[in-house]
Amino acid sequence: MNQLAQNVRPISAQELFDQIRYQNSKYRLSTVYRNLNLFEEKKIVRRINIDYKESIFELALGEHHHHLLCMKCAEIITLDCPLKEYEEELQRKTKYTILDHKLKLYGICPKCNNRSETF
Ligand SMILES: [Zn+2]
Ligand SMILES: [Zn+2]
Repeated sequence: MNQLAQNVRPISAQELFDQIRYQNSKYRLSTVYRNLNLFEEKKIVRRINIDYKESIFELALGEHHHHLLCMKCAEIITLDCPLKEYEEELQRKTKYTILDHKLKLYGICPKCNNRSETF
């Protein structure tokens, strides 16, 4: 399962399974799911919930970041957080201590754009 570590970008269980099966045909999708759930409990991976397709997993390392998601193929890219200064400004203005925020961007990736004449 260090397959996941080779994927810098987030990946779905199915996609991960396809990659693993390529190398080891005995692996089953249920095993992939079981391991992912286990890793999630141990906080090795993080589940990214997108609203209309299967969950996507990524390694739970690294900085706070955001995701840009293709609504057609569910490809996800990670983005640096653009909100740090805004948060600080907001804290000054509102006297709130801001602990968290969520930002998710949705769109159509270039690949899907190219084949979307039949949209
Ligand atoms: Zn796409
Ligand atoms: Zn952020």
